[in-house]
Amino acid sequence: MGTELLLGQIANTNAQFLSQKLADIGVGVYFHTVVGDNMERLLQVIRLAASRSDLVIFTGGLGPTQDDLTKESVAQHVGVGLETNLEAMKRIEDFFLQRGIVMTENNRKQALVLAGSHVFSNDFGMAPGMAIRHDSSTFVLLPGPPSELYPMVERHVMPYLIGLLPQKQVFHSHVLRFYGIGESALEEHLLDLIEKQDNPTIAPYAKEFEVTLRITARASSTEEGEALILPVEKEIRDRVGQYVYGMGEDSSLHDVLVTELGQRGETIACAESCTGGTLASLITSVSGSSAVFGGGIVCYTNEVKHQVLGVPEEVLHTVGAISEETAKLLAENVRVKLGTTYGVSVTGVAGPDPSEGKPVGLVYVGIAAEGKPTVVKELRLAGRRHAIVGRAAKFALFYALQ
Ligand code: ATP
Ligand code: MG
Repeated sequence: MGTELLLGQIANTNAQFLSQKLADIGVGVYFHTVVGDNMERLLQVIRLAASRSDLVIFTGGLGPTQDDLTKESVAQHVGVGLETNLEAMKRIEDFFLQRGIVMTENNRKQALVLAGSHVFSNDFGMAPGMAIRHDSSTFVLLPGPPSELYPMVERHVMPYLIGLLPQKQVFHSHVLRFYGIGESALEEHLLDLIEKQDNPTIAPYAKEFEVTLRITARASSTEEGEALILPVEKEIRDRVGQYVYGMGEDSSLHDVLVTELGQRGETIACAESCTGGTLASLITSVSGSSAVFGGGIVCYTNEVKHQVLGVPEEVLHTVGAISEETAKLLAENVRVKLGTTYGVSVTGVAGPDPSEGKPVGLVYVGIAAEGKPTVVKELRLAGRRHAIVGRAAKFALFYALQ
């Protein structure tokens, strides 16, 4: 619900979140509808949705202002009144009392719920959510702000929805994280498995320049789900295991790198040209990175590559800054200069224009390690500037993990 969605002022990320949550419990999502803050059009949408779905979830329009109409329109459709929910009213009054602000009268509207509905308390805001069953449909009304919606769904709505499912079943998943392989290539390797999938289901998706694969089993217990997943996961690992770097939705290349280095008591430093600090930023986004990150140098110009990181002018003038030789020297020298176990370098052409006569997307990643020959990887990355930088930084993390 919300005109701001129709105007393109905000993206409908609530729909994405809810769809993922519903997929987790095996509820098929057939439609996403966006409608503005207009009573007549809301009622049209409610009638249509109720005629074609067992479950209709609304987000937004539960607030105190005139344009918040969700409860009013569902009340009209269902033919019930609104009543004050005392717990929500108390929460709202306390909120204003604690902050010493006078409550405006329209805030009372937020404590109104559909008469006879099941109420979900809002632990991070004022307007409670609610569910009401009417004819053969269940309507669930939830607040718009993601900071209120997400915890309400996790804590209160999912258990409620699971309770409505015809048979008691659990959804158990394993999430595999891949790097160094694209979504389509991955799918190609697994096509026969994906095509014949039923239980467990296999779903690859791309996010932040990485590919994630979710294997989900429907079963009567977690143990049974695990037993269904394991042979499929083994088959997947046999085919494309070399690209798997971690497991779990929250895992990331930088997390895994920081954890592994920490466990081995090793450290890393980086010299970044085309990624301009992205690599250092990813590493330092992990809490605990201070134990493993020796520092980074953004050596954007040839002067810095030469004066700070000791790449000979001759190398820069002959083979150039975007070269295997420069990547090698940057990685080795930053490692020695910052006194770490590993040195990682990235130098390349992020675009949009070629540089040194070299094509956009050509990137070299150097990995230097104490007492080992330095490895340089040449990458030919596709995409625009932002994507090339993002992918180059992730490749550097991936190679550092090898
Ligand atoms: P409030 O009490 O803040 O008015 P509300 O339940 O009435 O909450 P809306 O007024 O519809 O919700 O939206 C409030 C804010 O929540 C929006 O400005 C937007 O930032 C966010 N929001 C609403 N709907 C969505 C959506 N579908 N996806 C992402 N964000 C959303
Ligand atoms: Mg609102």
